[in-house]
Amino acid sequence: MAMLELRGVSKSYADTPVLRSVDLSVEPGELMFLLGPSGCGKSTLLRIVAGLIRQDSGSIVLNGRDVSGLPPEARDTPMVFQNYALWPHLDVAGNIEFGLKLRKLPREEIAKTTREMLSVVGMTEFAKRKVNELSGGQQQRVALARALALRGSILLLDEPLSNLDARLRDLMRSEIRRICKERGLTALYVTHDRREALSVGDRIAVMKVGGILQLGTPRTLYRRPATKFAAAFLGDADFLDAKCLASDGDGAVFETAAGKLRVKLDDQPVKPEPNAPYTLMFHPEAVHVDAPETAPNAIPCVVRDEVFLGETTVLTLESSGVTLHASEGAAPERIPGASIFCAVPPDAFTILPPETR
Ligand code: ADP
Repeated sequence: MAMLELRGVSKSYADTPVLRSVDLSVEPGELMFLLGPSGCGKSTLLRIVAGLIRQDSGSIVLNGRDVSGLPPEARDTPMVFQNYALWPHLDVAGNIEFGLKLRKLPREEIAKTTREMLSVVGMTEFAKRKVNELSGGQQQRVALARALALRGSILLLDEPLSNLDARLRDLMRSEIRRICKERGLTALYVTHDRREALSVGDRIAVMKVGGILQLGTPRTLYRRPATKFAAAFLGDADFLDAKCLASDGDGAVFETAAGKLRVKLDDQPVKPEPNAPYTLMFHPEAVHVDAPETAPNAIPCVVRDEVFLGETTVLTLESSGVTLHASEGAAPERIPGASIFCAVPPDAFTILPPETR
């Protein structure tokens, strides 16, 4: 049985639909991400699960219990907010204890759970510290510990790392995944940061205004996005307009402005028909720069620009008026204006229907 089941959840604000009949199922122990641009309805969906916003229609089933009409306190859905929402007048331990006291748990159990949670988030030595005397990262840990202490059916996280600097964000990502996995927690996590979703999530629901566009594991979504929007949101990507010339069981040949390209067909979202138009997507790290002229899908290019980023170098290349991008690790300096061949391996393309945005 799913830990969370959303069925046909809809919500409009002043006649503008934000969510149109959203279905989603989260399995026990799963870290499910809602990923999408600002304003697409992620937080609204999360708050509907928490009971903080009432859906216009549809139902929310938590651990087999229909909670659609219940208030937040009756739902068992602890939440971690973007701004932490800690109690400023309480110390660290006081913040963690707060919800447990409201539940009128025995004193010894509260003390034991609080000690355990402080240890889980590595904050034991800060138990008596006022929360406004903590760094952002430490406050975030307290907010997480406070939510974890409540042992809900599902942990809800609303952009919990967006107020942290980049280094701390990287650290907390793996911490959150470790803590959730060690404790077998189910979580629904909202972010607009693809790296967060790709690195922490078991599955990701890519959202666009109106609802969920595509659902899958990080690797599947990154490799085989179903639309241009999903591809561009999950990573850097180039798109080529293409016409299918021929297709057999194993591969297909496409005519593009960059020449004829062969595409492997094994796990494509679309089965190409000869003479029909498509869009071919590929990620820049799949491109082999300075490939031999005889390599499969070798494309003659001129180097237009080079951006050195340390661990990678991003090249802008031009081929017959088409702009392509390639990223290389440990690359030699490329001279703008130089003519080279680059090659995109046949299995690096994803075939998309042309009309997808
Ligand atoms: P996200 O979390 O993806 O950034 P939200 O769920 O916060 O998006 O918002 C989705 C859309 O609903 C946005 O266009 C936002 O402006 C609108 N919205 C959110 N809350 C309200 C509200 N209380 N009243 C009117 N519009 C709202």
